[in-house]
Amino acid sequence: MWHFRAAQQPGRDRATAQAVGEAMDSAAVGRAADTAMGAVAVSGQQVGRLAGPAAALLLATLLAGCAAPAGGERQDSALPSGFVYLHAVAPDVQQDMRYHGSNNFIGRPVAGYQAPACILSEPAARAVQAAQAQVRPLGLTIKVFDCYRPQTAVNDFVRWGSDLSDQKTKPGYYPAVPKTELFQRGYIAEKSGHSRGSTVDLTLVVVDGLRASKVVRGPLADGQEVDMGSPFDLFDARSHTDNPHLSPDVQHNRRWLRTLLAQHGFRNLPEEWWHYTLDPEPHTDRYFDFAVR
Ligand SMILES: [Zn+2]
Repeated sequence: MWHFRAAQQPGRDRATAQAVGEAMDSAAVGRAADTAMGAVAVSGQQVGRLAGPAAALLLATLLAGCAAPAGGERQDSALPSGFVYLHAVAPDVQQDMRYHGSNNFIGRPVAGYQAPACILSEPAARAVQAAQAQVRPLGLTIKVFDCYRPQTAVNDFVRWGSDLSDQKTKPGYYPAVPKTELFQRGYIAEKSGHSRGSTVDLTLVVVDGLRASKVVRGPLADGQEVDMGSPFDLFDARSHTDNPHLSPDVQHNRRWLRTLLAQHGFRNLPEEWWHYTLDPEPHTDRYFDFAVR
């Protein structure tokens, strides 16, 4: 979820520029929020021109349209234009939405995740579906860990990073980095590409080990994740995609995943083997903040 800085990773200027560029674009968040609120404001003005009961009815209708879908029902109409639930596009992609629960680096549900749902821009979702269609005949399936991420969630990460009294997840997620340095080293930033809606964190899971063994390596038990050498969201050099100190099998698996996803338009972040962004992406400077539900 983080972006490294050059101080820790010499030669990673591209990632640094990305992190700095994203941090500098907080105004874009405000603009996006203004745009979303603007739609409601215009409706309010229209209501104001109507007489009492009619206005009340129209206002109730408008408010109902703004409310969360009832009964856990998920409708694309509840999403901003251009966003879709991945489930609607690629129903067989596994979803393990780690920030909705407590199995993540802050050790509790993250603000903004009201449902364990993967939401993406439609082009990104279709690209994931295309990659999934390619791996299924090979005895594999894609599993996603995070997709669109509300700015509210990123703000929650920043709050967590500032609370030095809470280090309960350190052994599992940042064993080699003092929590005091998570910001300084760029592990936590005030903006994430995930909030633009076309970035996804994912891995591969074995469906048929015999078939999968023709393309990926290592222990390939059905139902288990392909060995990528480090767990999702480990703040460590072991998570760097091209880390040369990992086993040949792991290096092969990471390269194979990257090559597969490149064929579908995804670009990997070199510091995170699981992090892929559609290139080009439809929203390059907007950081959305609607809830995942
Ligand atoms: Zn990511």
